[in-house]
Formats: sequence, structure tokens, C-alpha cells
Amino acid sequence: NAAKAELAIEDLHAWYGESHILHGVGFEVREGEVLTLLGRNGAGKTTTLRSIMAMVGRRTGSIRIGGVETVALPSRRIARLGVGYVPEERGIYASLSVKENLHLPPEVRPGGLTDDQIFELFPNLKERLSSQGSKLSGGEQQMLALARILRTGAKLLLCDELTEGLAPVIVQQIGATLRTLKDRGFTVLLVESNFRFAQSVADRHLIVEQGRIVDAVLNDELEANLPKLNRYLGV
Ligand code: ATP
Repeated sequence: NAAKAELAIEDLHAWYGESHILHGVGFEVREGEVLTLLGRNGAGKTTTLRSIMAMVGRRTGSIRIGGVETVALPSRRIARLGVGYVPEERGIYASLSVKENLHLPPEVRPGGLTDDQIFELFPNLKERLSSQGSKLSGGEQQMLALARILRTGAKLLLCDELTEGLAPVIVQQIGATLRTLKDRGFTVLLVESNFRFAQSVADRHLIVEQGRIVDAVLNDELEANLPKLNRYLGV
């Protein structure tokens, strides 16, 4: 509990054009913590991640990363503070090889994983190194999207729907990888609609509703809170 806040958000508002999407989001993620954002479609989970990266039309409030206020900074400066974003659409270039995709994002800070460390975490990628992006399975694409962010030196990972559309065995592999990353001191903020996956990786869950955080549940207390969560999530 003494761990310091890696990310501290207060009264965050965000807009796409005239659409006011976030209405005063506030929460903290401690160093080494895995936190999920749960909520119905359109609640504002993705917009929260995009706001942290300065990828929305406009944002106000406070977003401190490792103590540094970033609400007025552009994306590249935010990335250099050690934040990596893995978007839902993954962004794998179909015509580039796995290796080229892996080496695409620039290093933002020292301490990024080496290729050998990447292959240790994702053995499949090593075998597929010269394959074209378009030839990868969904699971391989997802691993590549995560791997290349780890190369950049990011220590705070913002991951959107990592498990969407993937086979259960791949979902388990990704869960194991996230737990390894947590053990190595990475901090992870995860948008997730696979509730059981969220439970298998996270320390804590936040509920997003209509652009606000309306509740928080410790993972250890998740089962006891299932009726309440089901009401929020409508499952
Ligand atoms: P989902 O799982 O459906 O993505 P979410 O909780 O991540 O849900 P967001 O993607 O953050 O929701 O969307 C929140 C609201 O913002 C929705 O009403 C959506 O229509 C709107 N929105 C998202 N992206 C844009 C955009 N680029 N321009 C305008 N409105 C947007």
C-alpha cells in the first residue's frame, strides 16, 4: 500500500469534437498494480485510455504520470514518460514482417526489453519472425502488439481488450504474460470485457458508467460483489 501512484487522474473531462464523453474521471494506479476498467459498451473505457495518451479532441483535469502533470502535453512527450498504449485494433502492419512490426515503435526510454527477452515471453513470435503481419493469427497479432510496446521501455501499459476474439488457450497465455509483467514491476491499466480474464490478472477493478468511475472492487472481494457487478455490467 505504500507504493506510490504511477498514474493519478483527477476530475478528467474529455471531448471528441462537441461530444463531452468523460465527466470527471478520477482514480490512481499504484506502481506494480494491475487495474481493470469494466463497464458497458460506450461507457468511456477506451476514451479514458485515449485521454491518458492525449488522443482525444480535448481534455481537462489532471493526469499525473510518475508525478509529472501531463494534461497539457502531446502524445509523444507522454510516451517518453514511459507509457505504452496497446489499442484494441492492434495496429499490426499487414505488409511488414513480424520483425519489422516489432521494431517499428521508437524506444522512448532505456530499459526496454531486448529481442531475446521478448522471445522468452512470446516464443511463437520468434518462429514467425519473417512472416508477414497479414499471415498472423489473432493471438499472434495481439502478442506482437504487446511485445513491441515492451521494446519501447514503457513501464505503464494501457491495454484495450487484449483478449477480444481470441481462443481460450491464447487468453490463458496472455494472462500468464501479464502476471509475469506484473512480477517484473510493470504497471497495467486494462480495459476488459472478459470478466473472468479480468479476475485472473487484476488486483482491482473500476466500474465506468457514463463517463465516470462509479465503483471500485478489490479482486479478492470480486466473488462477494458479483450481484452488484452484474447490475453494472448488465450480464
Ligand atoms: P466500447 O467497449 O464500446 O469501446 P467504451 O467504454 O470503451 O466502450 P468508448 O469507446 O470510450 O466506450 O466510447 C465512449 C463514447 O464516446 C461513446 O458514446 C462513443 O460513441 C463515443 N466516441 C468514441 N470514439 C469517438 C470518436 N472518435 N468520435 C466521437 N465520439 C466517439
